[in-house]
Amino acid sequence: MTTLLSIDQGTTSSRAILFSENGEILAVRQKELPLHYPQKGWVEQDPEDIRDDTLWAARAVLTESGEIPAAVGITNQRETVIVWDRATGRPVYNAIVWQDRRTADLCERLKKGGHEPAVTARTGLLLDPYFSATKLAWILDHVEGARARAERGDLAFGTVDSWLLWNLTGGDIHATDTTNAARTMLFNVRENDWDDRLLSLFNVPRALLPAVHDNTSVFGQTTLLCDRTLAITGMAGDQHAAVIGQACFAEGMVKATYGTGCFALMNIGSNFRESQNRLLTTPAYRLDGRTTYALEGSIFVAGAAIQWLRDNLRLFSDAAESEALATSVSDNNGVYFVPAFTGLGAPYWNPHARAAIIGLTRESNAAHITRAALEAQAYQTRDLMDAMKADAGGLSAEIRADGGLVANGFVCQLIADIIDRPLEIPTVSETTALGAAYLAGLQSGVYRDLDDLAGRWRCDRRFSPALPPAQSAALLDGWRAAIHAVQSVSGA
Ligand code: ADP
Repeated sequence: MTTLLSIDQGTTSSRAILFSENGEILAVRQKELPLHYPQKGWVEQDPEDIRDDTLWAARAVLTESGEIPAAVGITNQRETVIVWDRATGRPVYNAIVWQDRRTADLCERLKKGGHEPAVTARTGLLLDPYFSATKLAWILDHVEGARARAERGDLAFGTVDSWLLWNLTGGDIHATDTTNAARTMLFNVRENDWDDRLLSLFNVPRALLPAVHDNTSVFGQTTLLCDRTLAITGMAGDQHAAVIGQACFAEGMVKATYGTGCFALMNIGSNFRESQNRLLTTPAYRLDGRTTYALEGSIFVAGAAIQWLRDNLRLFSDAAESEALATSVSDNNGVYFVPAFTGLGAPYWNPHARAAIIGLTRESNAAHITRAALEAQAYQTRDLMDAMKADAGGLSAEIRADGGLVANGFVCQLIADIIDRPLEIPTVSETTALGAAYLAGLQSGVYRDLDDLAGRWRCDRRFSPALPPAQSAALLDGWRAAIHAVQSVSGA
């Protein structure tokens, strides 16, 4: 049997999945990854945990299945920054996670200094602490001796993909792929190269940076996963891998992934185009030297709001219980939940915003609050879809969705209602991991081309819009008032 090993290193867990050539899951291993919050707004992880857990999961999957995969693909949480010593392989600081807001003031200063248009023209991104550049600069400025060592070429910077590749190849290969590089805010996505003007703006020495390859490439070889040498032939940031796994290869197609956050990407073809509506432009994928771009709407908190209700308010013990609780009441009773725990992402981009539950009365209870948290997923999606529609002049007939939250039928139906488009959930729900396996399989000859992959996509569940327009308009009015309130409190 031909198999492919996918390494999926996410924010909440490190996973390995062995896929058959037909996309069936043959074995999965995963380990939860702790997040650390050393100060208000700071979010860190231990890079050695990331490495060790990932290696453990990959080895376990291969041992359990007894299979030797044709190739290995890597997909990962994006933007998270790791800096390590090239000689010892030891990180000089914890991984600063994409959700971390410690560089909000620096971003504000750069924005006030008028730098955002030049940054956007080169990267397709906005000046927000979400991206790697200011986090990397923070490490160089705050870890003793780091800047001098970086300038001497003694240190390496990488997003999680590079860190894993470096470790899997025993320190031989320091490389990344276009989609991960594109999220650093140091990479010119039109020229597909690191950008000297951005390196100087963020004060980052070039000597730190990895080589950048297409998503399909022979990234390196590893002997660490089993007693054979395996080739790593596919790599992409998680949302880009999900575009591949969801086979959104035609211009206009949209996928939305609902995990910790929610990320919607619309394929816009081979021409870079800046968003006029506060979305990002990002390479969807780069194959055979050609970049296909996407408009991206990034929402920082989606499923994480449900986790917060579970862990901090203890309204239920399992995220899946949220559905029964939310549907135990007939409506939200005027309660809205803006889950801006780490600021607001697209299309608002306000790192200072904080979460709020609004519209509480004496009758409000746990069910209304839970319902409001689930409903927020639909409203946030609508905000993104409105921006995409305005940028692209239209929206695809249906949206392909995936991620942990799509297990929740109430959320899926409400998203379809609020965006007024059918939502389609594929049979293989692990689209991110599947995308990495597909990339590895494309490079190693298991798959012919993108048409071959597109022909494999199958719809499992379809949710069609059913809510009367007046009702969805009333719900949206309530959401917009709540967003307005959150923005005013944060001074925006
Ligand atoms: P990630 O890849 O970002 O780690 P996943 O795609 O695994 O995330 O999704 C996990 C998220 O989905 C968690 O935040 C969890 O709270 C949420 N979740 C999982 N199942 C449900 C459910 N049935 N209803 C609501 N939320 C859910």
